[in-house]
Amino acid sequence: MRMYKDALKAVLDDAGKKNLDRRSFLMLGAAGAGSLLLAPGVARAESKLKSSARIVIAGAGAAGLAAASHLAKRLDGAKITLIDARKEHFYQPGFTLVAAGIKPVSYPLSTTREYVPDGVELVEERVVEFDPEGNKVVSESGKSYPYDFLIVATGLKLDYEAIPGMDVEQIGNNGLGSIYHSPAKAEATWRAMSDFADKGGVGVFQRPGTEMKCAGAPLKYSFITDDYLRRRGNRGKAEIIYNANNKALFSVPIVHEKVRMLFEERGVKVNYERVLESIDLAKKLAVFKTPIGPVELQYDFINVIPPMRAPDSVRNSPLPWQEGGWAKDGWIEVDKHNLRHKRFDNVFAVGDVAGVPKGKTAASVKWQVPVAVDHLIAAISGAETTARYDGYTSCPLITRLGQAMLVEFDYKDNLTPSFPGIIAPLEELWISWVMKTMALKPTYLSMLRGRA
Ligand SMILES: Cc1cc2nc3c(=O)[nH]c(=O)nc-3n(C[C@H](O)[C@H](O)[C@H](O)COP(=O)(O)OP(=O)(O)OC[C@H]3O[C@@H](n4cnc5c(N)ncnc54)[C@H](O)[C@@H]3O)c2cc1C
Repeated sequence: MRMYKDALKAVLDDAGKKNLDRRSFLMLGAAGAGSLLLAPGVARAESKLKSSARIVIAGAGAAGLAAASHLAKRLDGAKITLIDARKEHFYQPGFTLVAAGIKPVSYPLSTTREYVPDGVELVEERVVEFDPEGNKVVSESGKSYPYDFLIVATGLKLDYEAIPGMDVEQIGNNGLGSIYHSPAKAEATWRAMSDFADKGGVGVFQRPGTEMKCAGAPLKYSFITDDYLRRRGNRGKAEIIYNANNKALFSVPIVHEKVRMLFEERGVKVNYERVLESIDLAKKLAVFKTPIGPVELQYDFINVIPPMRAPDSVRNSPLPWQEGGWAKDGWIEVDKHNLRHKRFDNVFAVGDVAGVPKGKTAASVKWQVPVAVDHLIAAISGAETTARYDGYTSCPLITRLGQAMLVEFDYKDNLTPSFPGIIAPLEELWISWVMKTMALKPTYLSMLRGRA
């Protein structure tokens, strides 16, 4: 707390130096800050609903913990069981900052247990089987957990194994980076990137051809690397190449155009429709799949972002979409406006594993969870609810150290700024950088406790 107060003071002092209107800044702080800002328009229960419902939540990351907290606040007597083998909690938006060398490896780390609300049982195991016909899940020790309602919040699988030649143990060595894996590998990536920024050479950046969490992160890291090269006087010795998986740099056309212009201005070379197919770590050679066949690229530094899909236990269950673009990777077949399963109406999916058109971000979690919980509670009580999720998501897109664009949008690609008139979404601003580097984490942690 003391540290945060000190940090806030430093930010306010800096705000003075940067001529930011202090009142505007304090307004932002009072409002709760950043891309996780606004409370969704969901009616809050005045008092707890008595219920003996058995509710199982699979996955205790951002979405699972937030769901457990909301349910515990609103239900009296329900048996809520949270299942996740991972004892550590990762604040993943912090990985980019660790890999940028501006936060320590401990910054994204805490424990799952500290966010588990009273009255919720945490089972430290993995779910290996989802049986929505039998209304139960089975953990790896073979124990069955029958439920009346299930919330699937398992996040996604980083499928490094789908890239022949890739070895996560080598992240940090021989020019190999990967900011997505874990805090330790984000730090190892920082060392590799910093070494590249000292020497120059060819830096290769890419994103996978699958759906992915925080689609802005690969772009952010390209900008950050460009900035370090300039600060160290080595930009002239380096070539930065960004390989986009399709014909756009970002799914929202206006954001794509802005990033394209910034990349052009900074001399980042962009290739479209190139997906990393394999890598030879010893030879520092990446092979990309393109419409004209495989293309080889020699690199000095590469930030590998792997394909992402639903965890195997979800993919091998009846829960995913049965056809269409999301079937192959196992994203769960839910209604995009209420996160309720389309075939099993006592099942909900929230967070990265949900098969909805946009928003594999913590900011989306913030808005999805109260809507799903509202629908679940309405199902218990027999009431109606109009709670609806319109696809809000956000990306504080760092464009250089000290500046970011706070991009917020919805399913329809409408820009949905939280601070109209104060923070312009497509401008590189210091205040948006502050949001990302300082305000987002406290808001995220409040979200886990059901308070934001
Ligand atoms: C580098 C990076 C940068 C990011 N930047 C941002 C950002 O700036 N802003 C933003 O809003 N978001 C950002 N995100 C995305 C954000 O962190 C995720 O979207 C968010 O954490 C999703 O929450 P989740 O609960 O769905 O998944 P997670 O938080 O990943 O949690 C999933 C949990 O499910 C568990 N699990 C998996 N399989 C099973 C199983 N079979 N049984 C039981 N439990 C299981 C896992 O152990 C894990 O604890 C970033 C992510 C990364 C990696």
